[in-house]
Amino acid sequence: MQELSHWIDGKHVKGTSGRFADVFNPATGEVQARVPLASKAELDAAVASSAKAQVTWGATNPQKRARVMMEFVRLINRDIDKLAEALSREHGKTIPDAKGDVQRGLEVIEFCIGAPHLLKGDYTDGAGPGIDMYSMRQPLGVVAGITPFNFPAMIPLWKMGPAISCGNAFILKPSERDPSVPLMLAELLQEAGLPDGICQVINGDKESVDAILDNPTIQAIGFVGSTPIAEYIYGRGCTNGKRVQCFGGAKNHMIIMPDADMDQAADALVGAGYGAAGERCMAISVAVPVGDATADALIAKLIPRIEKLKVGPYTAGADVDYGPLVTAAAKERVLGLIGSGIEQGATLAVDGRGFSLQGYENGFFVGPTLFDNVTTDMDIYQQEIFGPVLSTLRAKTYEEALGYAMDNQYGNGTAIFTRDGDTARDFASRINVGMVGINVPIPVPLAYHTFGGWKKSGFGDLNQHGPDAFRFYTRTKTVTARWPSGLKEGGEFHFKQMD
Ligand code: NAD
Repeated sequence: MQELSHWIDGKHVKGTSGRFADVFNPATGEVQARVPLASKAELDAAVASSAKAQVTWGATNPQKRARVMMEFVRLINRDIDKLAEALSREHGKTIPDAKGDVQRGLEVIEFCIGAPHLLKGDYTDGAGPGIDMYSMRQPLGVVAGITPFNFPAMIPLWKMGPAISCGNAFILKPSERDPSVPLMLAELLQEAGLPDGICQVINGDKESVDAILDNPTIQAIGFVGSTPIAEYIYGRGCTNGKRVQCFGGAKNHMIIMPDADMDQAADALVGAGYGAAGERCMAISVAVPVGDATADALIAKLIPRIEKLKVGPYTAGADVDYGPLVTAAAKERVLGLIGSGIEQGATLAVDGRGFSLQGYENGFFVGPTLFDNVTTDMDIYQQEIFGPVLSTLRAKTYEEALGYAMDNQYGNGTAIFTRDGDTARDFASRINVGMVGINVPIPVPLAYHTFGGWKKSGFGDLNQHGPDAFRFYTRTKTVTARWPSGLKEGGEFHFKQMD
């Protein structure tokens, strides 16, 4: 059995806690590796080492730091097939989807090549007589990222790129479900010229997360994962005086107006609802057709498309639309929620239970499932399912549909499908959700914009990637400088006006 490691000070380091977690191949159900779970002592030692290394890295000029990112981009492109294969083997998503996972992370590293420009600061010449004033953006020191299983390349890259190019040392605690790609990325950073100790990968579970939360050297934490853990990390991290941003779960609504192109809407829903087995924080999990005629037409278009979806292992390449769920526990939870939907009175339009694939009987597969006539009190509506299950919530009017999305506890992503500009504009303006698609089902912003949800999907005041990341990973220092000339005055006992 393969034993994975941590990555500390530029080397693979075996775990010493004696605790391990199993890493599965979700397509076969087999355990393919075990990953060490770090103790508080292991985490603290890695942080102490990072703190020493950060002093030199923080003082390295930003252009030299950016050149490491430039080379990192080249190396990720060189190894993208290898990264995608390792990602699919542990996560279960298809190879094209795994490449997308790497690609959307890579785009943030490309953005980080512009760090010297983003870190330039502000300058006021002649703020007063002989007085200049300037603000610098300085690194925080040692910062940490805690990331989820569902994007094991993209989200670590979203964190490590900005944190490191701002001059910080970065401690990554990736998901224990699929830790291999984060380790490979750390190796590539070293090959790109990053000094040892500036990117450490510490594998672990709650013990290492708590050690991060309580370590006084760690200045900032970026978390992505489920909402209960996001709330916990935000609360404890802030109480300990750290800068914290946490991105949580989601329940993304797509409103389908009667004037929408129904084929386009159905195609969009199938991709956004079932892609990556629904294990995306930006997946559409609730379709909200406006009017019964729209709902009936939509369901009629959806059923044949859903029944044609091909579910299977990543080794089948591009022939498969989506793969298994990440663990047996995830599969059981999704099946339980489907059962609750039936019990609570929703109409099961496509039943994905009982899905089985010859040769992969022990894999964590769930077939695509569609519910109609869902109501807001049902568990399948209240909870984030994080599986290949799409719920249809019928609305009589646009205002009712808008109200459903606005009243939901989550506010990550949403979409509207319509041909009417007024409605689209009204929706974009009024909706209390962080990322909005107009005839775009998964509106993930590009690297130079920022990514973040509202309500229970995001905690903290800055988003991920884009310019916000450079604010999150730096702090501002403002210098007021005067170089007096001529006769020196005596002491001053009042604030001087800048006249
Ligand atoms: P998770 O919350 O179970 O785990 C996320 C991280 O927290 C992992 O590194 C895990 O080891 C750690 N963790 C888990 N339990 C913990 C505990 N009790 N104490 C301390 N740390 C703990 O999430 P997941 O299942 O890996 O990922 C899926 C979730 O992430 C979904 O809810 C999804 O919507 C969300 N997500 C959100 C975004 C976003 O940007 N909003 C992006 C991707 C995923």
